[in-house]
Amino acid sequence: LSDRLGGILDRLKKRGALSEADVGEAMREVRRALIEADVALDVVRSFTDKVRTRAVGAEVVKSVTPGQMVVKIVHDELIAMLGSDAKPIDLEAAPPVPVLMVGLQGSGKTTSTAKIAKRLKDRVGRKVLMASLDTRRPAAMEQLATLGKQVGVETLPIVAGQSAVQIARRAMEAARLGGFDVVMLDTAGRVTLDEALMAEVAEVKAATGPHEVLLVADSLTGQDAVNTAKAFDERVGLTGIVLTRADGDGRGGAALSMRAVTGKPIKLIGTGEKMDALEDFDPRRVAGRILGMGDVVSLVEKAVENIDAEKAMAAAERMRKGNFDLDDLRMQLDQMEKLGGLGGLMGMLPGIGKLKNQMANANLDDKVIRRQKAVIDSMTKKERRNPKLLDASRRKRIAAGSGTKVEDVNKLMKMHRQMADMMKAMGASAGGKRGGPMAG
Ligand code: GDP
Ligand code: MG
Repeated sequence: LSDRLGGILDRLKKRGALSEADVGEAMREVRRALIEADVALDVVRSFTDKVRTRAVGAEVVKSVTPGQMVVKIVHDELIAMLGSDAKPIDLEAAPPVPVLMVGLQGSGKTTSTAKIAKRLKDRVGRKVLMASLDTRRPAAMEQLATLGKQVGVETLPIVAGQSAVQIARRAMEAARLGGFDVVMLDTAGRVTLDEALMAEVAEVKAATGPHEVLLVADSLTGQDAVNTAKAFDERVGLTGIVLTRADGDGRGGAALSMRAVTGKPIKLIGTGEKMDALEDFDPRRVAGRILGMGDVVSLVEKAVENIDAEKAMAAAERMRKGNFDLDDLRMQLDQMEKLGGLGGLMGMLPGIGKLKNQMANANLDDKVIRRQKAVIDSMTKKERRNPKLLDASRRKRIAAGSGTKVEDVNKLMKMHRQMADMMKAMGASAGGKRGGPMAG
């Protein structure tokens, strides 16, 4: 694919807005890439339609070719569709918080249950209780108990002769008495979907009121996994998806289809049989994998780089003139998050060392950056362009809209003020020099 797409993209050398013909030709190759990646057909269709609408007429920024611009748009849309907003497992409820694991037999439910329990224990220090509701296969209960010992997480003592709902109730009671934070409920699976399974899962759900209902699905089963996800979501209601065997799936299409069909976020991916083979879902990586035939990925990376550089240059220019607005700050925060610190844009300004230290001292970790971005995202376009508009009542609205406090909004505004002032001062001292390593 890469050669075909690359070839077409190279021919799209002219400047200006993307034409329907440019986009149409590139889109046929993108369509083929998606199908090769095992993305469901109707998802392919809706995706290419969406990209075509966005791409036709899009302005090609200066330092990239029109072809790179199309690839960049495809890449961005893929990430958006995969869910760049994916949240980790949500445990914000009164303990013990039940988490229900559902799915077909052999999808990796029991394994994933233990992996997640281990992660919650190790990373966020939760006290977790696991319980197997698989009443048909005593070996399944033993399997969970063995994994529990292995990862150092308690499992509910096995009592013969109880129904799934009875075990679930007993698990919740034991967790309450034992002061557990989280109860992971590993349900039984079947080889295929059937009503008895659905009814049992629905009953357990009703009895325990789980905060998360996670479907565990095998990414290697492609379209079947998508149908399973749809059925479980309709019958039981899902809050998220855990995609297993990503280690054996080089294509990543199942992720896109499942997300598109159910609208439910993919929260985690299983990448092996070991207990630490569990990763946060990374839409960027999957988007890369879907487009990842040959050098399309490097083409994307190059395009993204160029476009970022283009934006950065424009922002640097505005800064030099003293017009550093909140959109610029937003972009800067993005880059900080991406680069894990200060870089990019900042590096382009002369005499930046002092500001860098100051910002490093301000403890700008990922959480803070995300909060600041949320604050900016709750502003209107006008407000971002002209921060002076932000009076007390607007700040209150923004705080409410972004789930932060007015204090957070004030802090951000103060930071913006300081950065803008400093940049203005530096811009003046740098005079007309075309500073920065990337200029020219
Ligand atoms: P369950 O029937 O849904 O509970 O499935 P299990 O958790 O028992 O898993 C079935 C098999 O799949 C086991 O041999 C697991 O080790 C294996 N497995 C689970 N998740 C993964 C994964 O992400 N990658 C690989 N390679 N194997 C996995
Ligand atoms: Mg199992």
